[in-house]
Amino acid sequence: MDYDVDVVIVGGGLSGLSAGITATKNNLSAIVLERGDYSGSKNVTGGRMYVHSLRKLLGDQFSDEYLELPVYKDTYEIYAKDGKISFSFEEKNKKNSYTVLRSKFDRYLSGIAEENGCTVSYSTLVKGISRENNLINVITDRGDIKTPLVIEADGSAALISRLQGRRLQPKYNMLGVKEVIENKTDRDYGETRTILGLTGDLKGGAFVYENRDTLSVGFTVKIESLQDDANNLKSSDLIEQVREKLGIDGKMLEYSAHMIPYYGYGNLPPVNYDNILVAGDSAGFLINDGFTIRGMDLAIESGMIAGNAAKIILDSGDYSNTEIYKKMLDESFIMNDMKVAWPMFNLLGNKDLFTKYPDFFTGVLSELMNVDGKNRRKPVNVVFDQAHQNGLSVASILRDAMRVM
Ligand SMILES: Cc1cc2nc3c(=O)[nH]c(=O)nc-3n(C[C@H](O)[C@H](O)[C@H](O)COP(=O)(O)OP(=O)(O)OC[C@H]3O[C@@H](n4cnc5c(N)ncnc54)[C@H](O)[C@@H]3O)c2cc1C
Repeated sequence: MDYDVDVVIVGGGLSGLSAGITATKNNLSAIVLERGDYSGSKNVTGGRMYVHSLRKLLGDQFSDEYLELPVYKDTYEIYAKDGKISFSFEEKNKKNSYTVLRSKFDRYLSGIAEENGCTVSYSTLVKGISRENNLINVITDRGDIKTPLVIEADGSAALISRLQGRRLQPKYNMLGVKEVIENKTDRDYGETRTILGLTGDLKGGAFVYENRDTLSVGFTVKIESLQDDANNLKSSDLIEQVREKLGIDGKMLEYSAHMIPYYGYGNLPPVNYDNILVAGDSAGFLINDGFTIRGMDLAIESGMIAGNAAKIILDSGDYSNTEIYKKMLDESFIMNDMKVAWPMFNLLGNKDLFTKYPDFFTGVLSELMNVDGKNRRKPVNVVFDQAHQNGLSVASILRDAMRVM
């Protein structure tokens, strides 16, 4: 063997560890290189994890001990100048998603990777790669490693892809900011809240996720709208505003901020290069379809697919031909769900959704629910009038509504 290890995985988050677990289950030698002191030390999420891929990855080893609470209740809230609309959906005993704290969970997953024979090297920063014949030399601050195949799982910064010529653009990224707040609950299930209308003119939304002993409170906004923001709002001020408006005043235990890839199906960057497979956030796998926000199940699934594709590529002996990985992704739910979410993804790029629509909806409901002895107007007239008052046309409202369908 003229190389050190079958697969080098850059990044020990969900996608990297899933790739490592799968590669070693396929009898490959694999090493995960993680810059943090432990897995989870550098990772940020909202977060609610849909656990179908995790169950597939771990099989009998799956346990919800290291997750937080199963989510039985989803609440959506739209704040406007003079009012608020909210609705909730509750379904008991449905354990398909859990709240999660990554510092705890990723540490657990890296333990499983090690139990399965995958080496995880912490405090190891990957600085670049060089090519040598048909192999790759992975350059780290602790020495170089020679391998036929690299799985890039280094998150939104995507160092390896950038070294292949990919550019990171603000329009394809969001900023996520999160605080973990002390909050005891005696319930054995959790609620998630998705909130529009609290981020001012910035394109984004806020969230509150209930954990066992804490709340995860935060917001996500498009980076380009931060650049356009005339008020030059600081993210640390915005998170305080969000907490204040929601009346959440417990002790803050953690503060974190992170980039979120926001490409959408139509703008996805390459997922494979010669000798390189790209997984999770580094491949731009994130879905926001207005109902669900998902990156974690896509990270785990794409990591697993990369671990399986690695086996096929190494067995073939042609390490530069990585097309099989793209094909396997195309056949998975990842690409299907990204495609289905694409129209909604586009709609969420529309500033009106965050600025004009909250006032439009509350204006319509305010009149329809108000009785004051004056002649009532037909609902259709109320809608037309409110659309006009809020700078929207009925045609644009219908067009946007069709996108949600
Ligand atoms: C505020 C916020 C809220 C979110 N909410 C949700 C949610 O509710 N549900 C959901 O499903 N998803 C959510 N997401 C998205 C989700 O967190 C990501 O999709 C997921 O974490 C991606 O996992 P990953 O393994 O691909 O990347 P990451 O978790 O970012 O892991 C990348 C790893 O690579 C390491 N690394 C990076 N560069 C190097 C290097 N040069 N050398 C060595 N190691 C390196 C990092 O330290 C890190 O451990 C949210 C994200 C944010 C920021």
